[in-house]
Amino acid sequence: MTDKKELRDEIPSYAYISLARRGMEKISLDQCFLKNCDNDSRELLEPFEKEEFEDDKKKITKIHIKCKKCGGIFILKLEDIKSVAKSTKEIEQEPLSMGLVFALDEEGNNLGHIGYF
Ligand SMILES: [Zn+2]
Repeated sequence: MTDKKELRDEIPSYAYISLARRGMEKISLDQCFLKNCDNDSRELLEPFEKEEFEDDKKKITKIHIKCKKCGGIFILKLEDIKSVAKSTKEIEQEPLSMGLVFALDEEGNNLGHIGYF
């Protein structure tokens, strides 16, 4: 059994959406991403399962969440990319670490790229 409290702590509170030149918008990940559901209450979301995959380029964490409002299940997929293409400029740069957040439905169909974390 996975500890539910621990699972909750693995979910970033916010994702950031790039608005091109207008900067970044911050959105809460404490919401149900299923169609026709407007649940944005953390209390009504129950993470219950976690899957992790890792290779030398990225780490993928999938967190299965049950929405107590619509009764549906969705998956938050967190892709943690270990090193983004190195800069070609002369100045040495540390590889950036960047994470992507996607929402999937129960069957694993992509509901869309949410943003960055
Ligand atoms: Zn819902």
